[in-house]
Amino acid sequence: MVYRRRKQTQMQAATESVAVAPTAPAAARPPKPRARMMRQYDLVERVRSYNPATNEDLLNRAYVYAMKAHGSQTRASGDPYFSHPLEVAAILTDLKLDDATIVAALLHDTIEDTEATRAEIDQIFGPEIGALVEGLTKLKRLELVSREAKQAENLRKLLLAIADDVRVLLVKLADRLHNMRTLEFVPTESRRRIAEETLDIYAPLAGRMGMQEMREELEDLSFRTLDPEAYAVVMQRLDALAERNRNLIGEIEAQLSNNLRHRGLGARVYGRRKKPFSIWTKMERKSVGFEQLSDIFGFRVVVNDVEACYRALGIVHTTWPVVPGRFKDYISTPKQNDYRSIHTTVIGPGNQRVELQIRTEAMDQIAERGIAAHVFYKEGVGSPTEFLKRESNAFAWLRHTIGILSESANPEEFLEHTKLELFHDQVFCFTPKGKLIALPRHANVIDFAYAVHTDVGNSAVGCKINGKFAPLSSELQNGDEVEVLTSEAQSAPPSAWESLAVTGKARAAIRRATRTAVRDQYAGLGRRIVERLFERAKIDYADDKLKGALPRLARTSIEDVMAAVGRGEIKASDVARAMYPDYREERVARYGVKKGLAAKIKEKVIPEPKKGPPAIPIRGINSDLPVKFAPNGGAVPGDRIVGIVTPGEGITIYPIQSPALKDFEEEPERWLDVRWDIEDSAPQRFPARIRVENVNEPGALAQIATVIAEHDGNIDNISMQRRSPDFTETTIDLEVYDLKHLSAILAQLRAKAVVARVERVNG
Ligand code: MN
Repeated sequence: MVYRRRKQTQMQAATESVAVAPTAPAAARPPKPRARMMRQYDLVERVRSYNPATNEDLLNRAYVYAMKAHGSQTRASGDPYFSHPLEVAAILTDLKLDDATIVAALLHDTIEDTEATRAEIDQIFGPEIGALVEGLTKLKRLELVSREAKQAENLRKLLLAIADDVRVLLVKLADRLHNMRTLEFVPTESRRRIAEETLDIYAPLAGRMGMQEMREELEDLSFRTLDPEAYAVVMQRLDALAERNRNLIGEIEAQLSNNLRHRGLGARVYGRRKKPFSIWTKMERKSVGFEQLSDIFGFRVVVNDVEACYRALGIVHTTWPVVPGRFKDYISTPKQNDYRSIHTTVIGPGNQRVELQIRTEAMDQIAERGIAAHVFYKEGVGSPTEFLKRESNAFAWLRHTIGILSESANPEEFLEHTKLELFHDQVFCFTPKGKLIALPRHANVIDFAYAVHTDVGNSAVGCKINGKFAPLSSELQNGDEVEVLTSEAQSAPPSAWESLAVTGKARAAIRRATRTAVRDQYAGLGRRIVERLFERAKIDYADDKLKGALPRLARTSIEDVMAAVGRGEIKASDVARAMYPDYREERVARYGVKKGLAAKIKEKVIPEPKKGPPAIPIRGINSDLPVKFAPNGGAVPGDRIVGIVTPGEGITIYPIQSPALKDFEEEPERWLDVRWDIEDSAPQRFPARIRVENVNEPGALAQIATVIAEHDGNIDNISMQRRSPDFTETTIDLEVYDLKHLSAILAQLRAKAVVARVERVNG
């Protein structure tokens, strides 16, 4: 057995009444006399009474397992903790549920509160029961989470959405019912909250599932806790009225069934007292008191079949005057929770208004036990387990009943059901700390990450779903626990995520982040270019100075300027001129003759006036003409080169493979035979242009720039062009020492995953 720390948060102790120590406040109160705890054979007997085929061995094993697992734990009442799962199981036997549900009830708190594990339960009781118990464990965690996060309004949706087996909900409701029945032992401050939650969430849920008896008990228990005075008032008057009408009730029952029998119709007739909470809400809603019998009593006429229902209705309506506007036929048009009955009110014996519900036995069962009743009251049903599994699969039954909601009794109710429909479009997941994240269906981990926090989304690099590594694009399922793995190295998400994300929030955040990231990269590049120009030109660069020059550049911020330079929209020299209006760019430098043949050239772009021009290491030029390199591609030592003379301008050095040379084929007089002369010259850089086809993701440009910088290449200019949703073509003007240097850089770039293709460009 894997050791698990006992998790006993305050919340949990409150809900489950786990007494951590004998000093729990409730223990101080005189203990209420309690019924003898149910025994093993009691439980088995109860199940066998409605399910002769029950697996007694399974029930017994579960009983013993749960009892051992909970060991000496006690509830706030002082009872052994095990009495709780046992009572929960007993409640479910009242609903006549299958063995798996009863066993799951016995085990429902073991994974969370004891050393038991899912694996062990699977091993001993099989995966079906294991899944039920795990479902209950999830719900319990979820309950705590939504309570802390004050997401109660979500909880009900969530309960339905998360439990893919309706039996999980049935156990959950029974669990809550038992906790409500024993609420008096819970500390006062928790009581109210638990009661509110029950009234808000669990009672309506029971109603939704057609379980009226359970709903009413939950409501009344909550009502008693939340408004003891009102509860007491209602109960007093109910008792008084019931007492006053005691004889009348029996008389009405007798008259009704006699009348029906005389007309040849066997019927079970019984009066049923209305519940305090339903009376109270009626009083609140209609601001009326209750004085009449019909205010506190309803009568049921239960017959054999549907035809008999309408016959009974005819008899009643011809015997007593009908109260107009009170007739409703829920047999021909069942309620959304599958409730079926005929409702009518007549002026009956003793001149009393009598409310009647006419229904078959099966309808009566469904009215009281709802979905649980379907186990035995649907035709052609195999084993209860099979039925529940089939019917509860994705809540076919619930959905169906919701789906047939055509007439809505009142707008509130309609809203309720609309909500219910809506949340089938949602999934509910958790952070490792248990925070609940609600997402639209089909959402993936990227959406989840952004729902947690934009920063988490932006830096997400991987994830674990329920402890297992998974792709970020994995679609999330209800109840998934998602751990997003982040990396500080990732400042912005890949732009491709934008099309992967399902939620608008994630998409917008990704768009914003990638836009910012790209801009930041351009700005970084721009700044490098600008700073280098200033450095070489020996002028001072200062942000403040540039700030003053912003209007001249028609930009609003320094970052803007730098990004524009990075993008190639404005030149670094434009920036310099804006800051220093008398700045002169010396694009093509003068050269001089040195040692007869060698020429000197200043650096191509940036003047270095004081040092004087470096020697141009090319032999074969013997004139005063300025020398420059091929404007669209450059040339580097190692290239076979030719010089092209342009009258009035100078000599341009082209690599022999340059396609631009074609233009001069007709003018051989312009061709100069030149060679590199680098042996005795100081290391110099020469221009070359490359084209990189890279994957569209925010880190790509930075990676490329880094490779170049790390290998001692200078980036002179960059221009980018998006070729497809996936690729960008980036053209980079570099300065390198020679062909070998350039080839090394190209090879390094090719090794990068973000780089699809690299080639040198010859202009
Ligand atoms: Mn429990």
